[in-house]
Amino acid sequence: MATRQPCPCGGPSFDTCCGPYIEGAAVPDTAERLMRSRYSAYTLKNEPYLLATWHPSTRPQEQVIDPAEKLQWLGLEVKSALRLRQRKAEAAPDEDFVEFVARYRINGRAHRLHEISRFRREDVDGTLRWFYVDGTFPE
Ligand SMILES: [Zn+2]
Repeated sequence: MATRQPCPCGGPSFDTCCGPYIEGAAVPDTAERLMRSRYSAYTLKNEPYLLATWHPSTRPQEQVIDPAEKLQWLGLEVKSALRLRQRKAEAAPDEDFVEFVARYRINGRAHRLHEISRFRREDVDGTLRWFYVDGTFPE
């Protein structure tokens, strides 16, 4: 199915951006790519992907997405992945941080989520995979 949809994360094409990760055809090789694909998965209400990319130590037991909630994602802005990565890379190559702002609307009201997400990379059956661990909120 060849479509030219833009990617929800802001990339030019879903099929060459987050699509392969969400569909399981590829594994994100950076924390930023994983973060973008998780944002796209939120917009698609793809709960299995969100849980699969959540680190087991912090993975929620309860439902992540409420299908009845009138939440509309409006856009993603990654702020400082590279700068944070350069600062942290030498200390811990299997840990990374991505700062982003995601905008969304609930019941007509616009909201803004500003988060610094923490990611950890682990070897899963011979494949290095990034997982979302947790986040802090600078505002
Ligand atoms: Zn994308």
